[in-house]
This record gives sequence, structure tokens and C-alpha cells, in this order.
Amino acid sequence: MTEYVFEPPAPATVAVVGSAARFPVRRIFCVGRNYAAHAREMGKDPDREPPFFFTKPADAVVDDGTRIPYPPQTANLHYEAELVVALGHGGVDIDEAAALDHVWGYAIGNDLTRRDLQLAARDMGRPWDLGKGFDHSAVCGPLHPVAAVGHPGQGFIRLDVNGEIRQDADLADMIWSIPEQIAFLSRSITLMAGDLIYSGTPAGVGPLQANDVITIEIEGLGQITTTIVHAD
Ligand code: MN
Repeated sequence: MTEYVFEPPAPATVAVVGSAARFPVRRIFCVGRNYAAHAREMGKDPDREPPFFFTKPADAVVDDGTRIPYPPQTANLHYEAELVVALGHGGVDIDEAAALDHVWGYAIGNDLTRRDLQLAARDMGRPWDLGKGFDHSAVCGPLHPVAAVGHPGQGFIRLDVNGEIRQDADLADMIWSIPEQIAFLSRSITLMAGDLIYSGTPAGVGPLQANDVITIEIEGLGQITTTIVHAD
């Protein structure tokens, strides 16, 4: 039995629909600019880029229904509605044709972003880490097992803030499909059970303020609600 110099933290976890068991999160990968209209609103050409990924710490995950304090060091916190893919099996050099066999389930996510920090880093050629990977930045609703919902390749993805629709698109509009994302990632790193992939956000990203209530719906996966509160 390994002795630790202090008690290791409990693993980060995500809820599972219809179960008391929770899904242990190993790592969080996020694909950038995966919907053409969103790439354009970020000032980029969606036709010329291979997929690229960034990460968040596993312990940035928070459940549906969480009240999230407006984060520090930003004046431009943004929402990003996303389909989250949870892997139940890992691998390297995974074939696109077999990629979906590695998926355990799907959830609704919100890739919260300190847009001012992200864009300043981007424009200076620096890493995005502190713009993307801060406390409570990876909202993830309960996972729906593949056995229950299959593999959502199309269907609406919508986000509203205080009842006003801000993002409204279809999962079929992704530039890189879920199998392509899994195959691509697995050529660069060893994917593992417990990895989450945030599959990109459609157009319509925008700012949040304290007291905003964000609701995200994805066809077949229900909806999640997040409230932003004043930091103490
Ligand atoms: Mn995103």
C-alpha cells in the first residue's frame, strides 16, 4: 500500500442519469472551433484548419444545477454549449470506424471561458490555459449511457440565458464528427477510460453576468441549468 505525504483528493466525477454511481473523470479534452459559423464569429476560416484541442483540469467539472461564482481576473465570462463525450475504453490509433465503441455515454456541457484572457493569450501566441481551465469551468450534466440514448449524430443543441435563446444549432453541423475527434486524439495521445471530450460549440457565444441563469438543451439528453452568482 502506497503511503502518501497527504491524503490524495477524491477523483473528479460526473453524475449518471438514473444511477447513484458516478463516472470518474480522468482528463478533459476540448476541441476548438468545430462549428463553421462559430469559427467565423471568432475571426477564423473554418475551411483551412485541422482540428485542435486544449484541456481543462479534471477537477474543473461541476454538475448540473451548480451555482458558480463569477470567476476572478475576467470581465468577459462566456458560455459555450457543447455535447460532451465520455469514454469508457481507451486506446491508441483508434480507427474512425471503431471509435464509437469507446464511448460510455453523452452529456450536455458548458465550456465556460474567460474570453478576454483567452483572446489576449491567443493574440500573443501564448497558451489558453488560464482562459479555459479555471475553477468550475467545465459544467457537465448527468451522463446518459450509450445503452439508453445511442450515439447522437444529429439533433438540436440550444442555449438560453434568462430565457433568451443565444445558441441554436444542430449537432450535424460539427466540422469534425465525434468518431473523427476520437480517432484524431488517439493518434497524439493514449486515450483512457474516464476521459471527457467537449466537442465544440456552435455560433452565438456571448457574455454572462452574475445572476444569469443558463439553460442548455440537447435533443435526447434533456436540459441542464447553471446559475452564475456574485463572487464573495
Ligand atoms: Mn468550447
